[in-house]
Amino acid sequence: MILFCRGGGRGGRGGGMKGGAKVVIEPHRHEGIFIARGKEDALVTLNSTPGVAVYGEKRISVESPPGPDGNVVKVEYRVWNPFRSKIAAAVLGGVDNIWIKPGSKVLYLGAAAGTSVSHVSDIVGPKGNVYAVEFSHRPGRDLLNVAKARTNVIPIIEDARHPLKYRMLVGMVDCVFADIAQPDQARIVALNSHYFLKNGGHSVIAIKASCIDSTAAPEAVFRREVNKLQGENFKPLEQLTLEPYERDHCVLISQYRPSKKKKSPE
Ligand code: SAM
Repeated sequence: MILFCRGGGRGGRGGGMKGGAKVVIEPHRHEGIFIARGKEDALVTLNSTPGVAVYGEKRISVESPPGPDGNVVKVEYRVWNPFRSKIAAAVLGGVDNIWIKPGSKVLYLGAAAGTSVSHVSDIVGPKGNVYAVEFSHRPGRDLLNVAKARTNVIPIIEDARHPLKYRMLVGMVDCVFADIAQPDQARIVALNSHYFLKNGGHSVIAIKASCIDSTAAPEAVFRREVNKLQGENFKPLEQLTLEPYERDHCVLISQYRPSKKKKSPE
């Protein structure tokens, strides 16, 4: 699908399209994500609440060509800034698979004010869910507001170290995403996965090396995190640094309890 628009972006600090520019929307390789091609290219998601920006990000309104009934359909995209979202940084960094697509159920640990959560909500769409966990009450208030307008976001103001406290709210998920910048993040991800992640599902973890060990080289810290996850029945699939958007961060993607291949009879 390619959609054209004239009129360009609206909104504030999000960066991206210049107002008045001609913009072409193309699907990204990752289902549910798009690229707005204009004077500057930008990563965008389809706004599930047209007319509303979540954190002052730019919006791009697009009209489809008239259908047989002569009607044009107006849709809106929101610019996704890789300097403000590690998932967007991973996508622009060329990650193979983020394991979040339309219809996915995602447990998101470290939701903060819900800025990245809102883009994940756009991606998973009406058939998906984002269970968004944040323990700090201040950003939690903004997260609750994001969830008021987005019915696929289930906000959970709890400590991700205690998944039993929110077990009644969360169903089985396809993906656990974590961005909690805690030294025991791997343990927290494993604990949540044991309760909520389906066998063969995936974890996507943003690791900030200095939060785990500020004295060791980032590569050594990442290696140790990989080892911890392997000890919890995760099979590492992909590791990607988030340069130039984040320094000394990586995203680590693993499969949880991968099914054992049957040996073929000899
Ligand atoms: N992912 C967010 C985004 O892209 O907008 C940014 C997350 S920020 C780096 C880390 C967040 O994790 C903070 O809001 C912090 O309060 C939260 N956090 C840290 N430890 C947590 C825990 N044990 N349980 C729940 N939230 C936690």
